[in-house]
Amino acid sequence: MKLDLNIQPLESWIKAKSEPLLIAGPCSAETEEQLVATAHLLAKTGKVTALRAGIWKPRTRPGEFEGIGSIGLKWLSRAKEETGLPTAIEVATAKHVEEALKSGVDILWVGARSTVNPFTVQEIADALRGVDVPVMVKNPVNPDLSLWIGALERINGAGITKLAAIHRGFSYHEKTAFRNEPMWDMAIALKTHVPHLPIINDPSHICGNRELLGYVAQKALDLDMQGLMMESHIDPSVAWTDAKQQVTPAALADIIDRLTLRQPEVKGADLKDKLAELRSQIDKIDDIVFQKMGERMQIVEKIGNYKKENGITILQVNRWEEILNRRIPYAKALKLSPEFAEKLLELMHSESIRKQTEIMNEGQSGQAQEKLTHA
Ligand code: PEP
Ligand code: MN
Repeated sequence: MKLDLNIQPLESWIKAKSEPLLIAGPCSAETEEQLVATAHLLAKTGKVTALRAGIWKPRTRPGEFEGIGSIGLKWLSRAKEETGLPTAIEVATAKHVEEALKSGVDILWVGARSTVNPFTVQEIADALRGVDVPVMVKNPVNPDLSLWIGALERINGAGITKLAAIHRGFSYHEKTAFRNEPMWDMAIALKTHVPHLPIINDPSHICGNRELLGYVAQKALDLDMQGLMMESHIDPSVAWTDAKQQVTPAALADIIDRLTLRQPEVKGADLKDKLAELRSQIDKIDDIVFQKMGERMQIVEKIGNYKKENGITILQVNRWEEILNRRIPYAKALKLSPEFAEKLLELMHSESIRKQTEIMNEGQSGQAQEKLTHA
């Protein structure tokens, strides 16, 4: 389903100094010197288009540094005046919005912990009504696409058309290499729903460390995201927040230099022809895959009817294990990753169970049907 949001192109409100578009700055504004000195070094790289800094910090535990507060707005104004970099901060309340706008902050963003709460997002949206300021919405902490879209809709509904999303990864129950799992599929799904919405990637909060920043940034660009937001501190070792993931302006410039920029559009007739030919091969194969899926479902229907007539349960765990055990080695031999093969099988299996449940329920009394569908 495509969403009809009224969004202006990114280039209409932010012109990248160089490719890729980079918004950078410390996780938190700590002191006037730290912020202004970092801004100067970032501006000097020639790669940074806007300066970010948190002045109101959402912290998990009370008693931790919760941001320098409103005084930081003055420091941001000074950094902007001296470097020419437009400024960006996180806002989480109507008061933040009012103060930021009064102080001339150029770009606002909604943080991951605010996006999860529709009351908060609506409060921010209401404070933005009638104002022409760019707003970026970070994905919610939990992998819930509707919450992310809902927040974008609320801000857009308040008349904000200079709108972008920030992909900063998602909280995940297992420990992985990342602080926040990228779950790239979520960003791709957002792009599918709102193709004209720019998405900025935030490798810093995805990684939680310095080592993987380049890898994540490259992947984001390869997925055609429109820019990067990255944390940079004049001396990360003494940063008051997110010390492990911040890099010096010089290290940031180095990461950016190593990125490969690829074109979303194919240039040159030869390349276009080759790509068109390969795509037509893919189209043919996809048609065959769908045809085979259709045939598979017809057999599933026969199995469903047979089970119903003979009073056999829909799910037989042994059978599912047998399918996995047989198919995964075969998939590996075909150079398909086991994760992909398992996901695909799970998808087919759950659709087959859905179909068989439908068959089992056919002809049941209305009341029983009700019960089943609400179980
Ligand atoms: C931040 O950008 O400093 C921040 C707090 O990020 P997030 O909302 O993604 O956790
Ligand atoms: Mn941070």
